[in-house]
Amino acid sequence: MENRQVVLIKQSDYSSDSLLCSIRKAIELTSFDLTRVGGATVLLKPNLVTAHRPEEAVTTHPAFVAAVGRVFREAGAEVWVGDCPMGDISFEDVLTATGVGAACREAGLILRDFRTAGVVSRQGFPLSKVIADADFVINLPKFKTHLFTMMTLSVKNLFGCVESNKRADYHRISPRLFSFSETLVKIAEVIAPDLNLVDGIVAMDGYGPTLGDPFPLSAIVASRNIHASDWAACTLIGLNPLHLETLRAAVRLGVWNYSDSVRLTGDPIESMRSIDFTVPYEIDRSWFFQFAKQWWHNRLSPQPQIDRQQCKRCGLCFRSCPAGAIVLNKENFPRLLNRRCIKCYCCTEVCPHHAVLLNEGLLRRVAAWFSH
Ligand code: SF4
Ligand code: SF4
Repeated sequence: MENRQVVLIKQSDYSSDSLLCSIRKAIELTSFDLTRVGGATVLLKPNLVTAHRPEEAVTTHPAFVAAVGRVFREAGAEVWVGDCPMGDISFEDVLTATGVGAACREAGLILRDFRTAGVVSRQGFPLSKVIADADFVINLPKFKTHLFTMMTLSVKNLFGCVESNKRADYHRISPRLFSFSETLVKIAEVIAPDLNLVDGIVAMDGYGPTLGDPFPLSAIVASRNIHASDWAACTLIGLNPLHLETLRAAVRLGVWNYSDSVRLTGDPIESMRSIDFTVPYEIDRSWFFQFAKQWWHNRLSPQPQIDRQQCKRCGLCFRSCPAGAIVLNKENFPRLLNRRCIKCYCCTEVCPHHAVLLNEGLLRRVAAWFSH
């Protein structure tokens, strides 16, 4: 029978002793059998998308990754930690900035750069070979908002397992949320992680994935079912789970049935639930607006803009744009070609200097005014 259990554990900080206890408790309550990993290789897949400091709440916290690693090492596994950052940001730079490199080395975990490990094809998806080589995959997403997909949780986190230079192709082929979400769900189903542990101790709300604010949610979300994990995460912040397009895509693809309830265990949801958590744009919670966006995605999505004062002319956004919508001028300042932009927000995600801002646009403002 399908396991639809989700464990919620209240944890307010990243202090090592209490975090280790909470992680142990979360894994135990999911009924994941730790005796199975003795002598096996276990891959931890955190969110290491860009080079941001841990306190910015963009990436999975180093103490969280290390604590999960310690639990699996104690159970006798060889533990790997891997990801592939966006664009051409180096894995080593991300490990340094996020603190994950130092934390993992101290905990005796082995770091695996997906980009250099080779690629295997799984049901047509080019995935890092590390995924295929590991006996177990443990998904460690950061709990945060996302301008394009509204939230980035367990399903979305696995997009980082796709070969880096092919990710832009998926954005280009499926520029709309409807089809892109189906791609994300298919990738998640192919990888089928054995366990999902979401770092929601300090989450990010507002304009995620990088322009939002750290939000003390004090929650660890654990589940062996990836869709149940995302469902519970939405419930935790008072978001209708069916406003999350990846969950709707899972229903359309027949891998998730929302009529069966998710079983919440662990600490009571009321002890950590936050009604103050904001998604990128409140108007995006409206069914009508979501429907309209399927058709007028470009017009109804905010337009990225370069803040020249903040821009350090590193060119990362130019090299990461899947649509060729960013060009560099003679002084190496990026310029956006609005007509080409598919509103994927990779540029905001990749910019290390918060120099890509957002303009809501007249049409959105008018729609928001009518929806009030
Ligand atoms: S906007 Fe950001 S990523 Fe783009 S060139 Fe400027 S600093 Fe670099
Ligand atoms: S300009 Fe930014 S939002 Fe537009 S397509 Fe390029 S990366 Fe995506």
